[in-house]
Amino acid sequence: MPQRTFSIVKPDAVRNGHTGAILGEIDKAGFRFVALKQQSISKRQAEGFYAVHRGKPFFDALCEFMSSGTLVLMVLEKENAIADLRKLMGATNPANAEEGTIRKQFASSIQENAIHGSDAEDTAAFEIGYWFAGYELI
Ligand code: ATP
Ligand code: MG
Repeated sequence: MPQRTFSIVKPDAVRNGHTGAILGEIDKAGFRFVALKQQSISKRQAEGFYAVHRGKPFFDALCEFMSSGTLVLMVLEKENAIADLRKLMGATNPANAEEGTIRKQFASSIQENAIHGSDAEDTAAFEIGYWFAGYELI
């Protein structure tokens, strides 16, 4: 059974011109693009999305960063999508990311790390519903 996950090309990667290359990596890895849109978001919207991180020392800077420019929001589908996307992304800190991963290739720092991917089925469901209406998921 194919599984859906949610992903974001973060503002650093869009600003640095890596959108096409990152979408290419996702495509090559066999994901289907269920939905995809490019937009900017408000700090309040970022705070709602990252609510699980509220209270952490990096929360405010993270939400500031996520609302600092254009991003690409995506719903992706394949067998084992959640775990496979996390593997393709690489470690949160690009300094620890494996060779060939998206973060190794395109991230600049632990905060400006190019891509987001849901980490579990329940967070994927929340995140897809946060950014996309049912009629956008085809
Ligand atoms: P994401 O949720 O974006 O896919 P992740 O699951 O690898 O990334 P989380 O621990 O969920 O990492 O942190 C969410 C985001 O917060 C990170 O991707 C990064 O942008 C930022 N972040 C995490 N830890 C730090 C930190 N120590 N300093 C600065 N920013 C951080
Ligand atoms: Mg996370």
